[in-house]
Amino acid sequence: MIKLSAGTAHLLGMKRLKTDAPPTTAYLMAGEGCQNDCSFCAQATSNLANKNELARIRWQEYQTEDIISNLSQAAAKKDLQRICIQAVDNPQAEESITDFLDQAQVDLPVCVSKSINSLAEVDKLLEAGVDRVNIALDVVDPEKFNQIKGGSYQERYQLLEAAANRFPDRISTHIIIGFGETEKQVVKLLTQLKELKVKLGLFAFTPLRGTELAKQSRPDIDNYRRVQIANYLIYNHDFTLDQFEFKADKLTAIDIKKQRLKDLLATGKAFETVGCSGCNRPYYNEKPGGVMYNYPRSLTSQEIEEAIKESRLIEDGRE
Ligand code: SF4
Repeated sequence: MIKLSAGTAHLLGMKRLKTDAPPTTAYLMAGEGCQNDCSFCAQATSNLANKNELARIRWQEYQTEDIISNLSQAAAKKDLQRICIQAVDNPQAEESITDFLDQAQVDLPVCVSKSINSLAEVDKLLEAGVDRVNIALDVVDPEKFNQIKGGSYQERYQLLEAAANRFPDRISTHIIIGFGETEKQVVKLLTQLKELKVKLGLFAFTPLRGTELAKQSRPDIDNYRRVQIANYLIYNHDFTLDQFEFKADKLTAIDIKKQRLKDLLATGKAFETVGCSGCNRPYYNEKPGGVMYNYPRSLTSQEIEEAIKESRLIEDGRE
């Protein structure tokens, strides 16, 4: 079973939808109902959430042959830069991915995000033609990781690290801001991931009806903006952990002149969706017209100014 995100189905001409931000990656979901019981996820089989949801997005099943043929056309028209397959953890999902990869001869890089337990599994996917494999950490705080996802953060991180070392530039990960992690924990992790050449997809926690964390709030926007700025400086301007200052583990200043920081942020890139190349995930975390955690497009100059202000970093930063 392969489902498409509503935006992807619209882009492929398979669904009507009003949107101001078409996806630049085709988002596919393999399978339905996940035996991992992450307490934030609508796909966990232990909850009663709608299984046509993942993040804020609605998904719908289509015939694999139709998907492939429409993907080929979209690729030929240069409407897409990548295909991303998110698989739930169940045996049917495994089959769906294998079938799709066997059948799809689409001229686009493919990344796969699934429950990975060994380097051999990563190798198998890369051998099958996958461009990048995503090993999601999701939760940054090790203790919260165990409560929210189950299992050991350390083991997951070690697998990610080993995969990144064995398959350089082929590994991605996701982290979600808003599970009570500190900004210092996040910034430290970002510097480690950059060092490992792991591409990072940054998400804001989104409470979903029917999940265990349905009543938990989203992260504060100032917190999210500071993480985005740190991420941008680390990944694009080689900033290191010692260039960030924290008070009570909150990012309060960056070792850079205020004007220079403003200049670096003036493109607005820091506030755009980050992830594998070509990934913009429109409205994964945002309601259209609501708080824009990740912008799926370039920002206007007014939006850039607002986002910088929201971070509350420049006022407190150095002259
Ligand atoms: S960063 Fe984007 S393209 Fe890469 S695995 Fe995550 S959602 Fe898919």
